[in-house]
Amino acid sequence: MYQCKDIADEVNSYIDGALPLTKRIGLFFHLLICSCCRNYLQQIRTTISVITVSHPKEHDNTDTKALAQHLHDLCKHDH
Ligand SMILES: [Zn+2]
Repeated sequence: MYQCKDIADEVNSYIDGALPLTKRIGLFFHLLICSCCRNYLQQIRTTISVITVSHPKEHDNTDTKALAQHLHDLCKHDH
């Protein structure tokens, strides 16, 4: 079963659609039970779309991994 720290690792692949089906399912079930990670995924999507719209040429250079970690750090919880 996925834990919150795993979500930070996999969320970029998840958004890109690059994650294998088994991992997508595992992540999906974590999102079902964890409102914090749902929130977090929503924040990432919003942030990425803002970056893409406002700085389309810089999108490729955006460190989404660091961004993901930063956003996840904002959401302190343990389970
Ligand atoms: Zn979580």
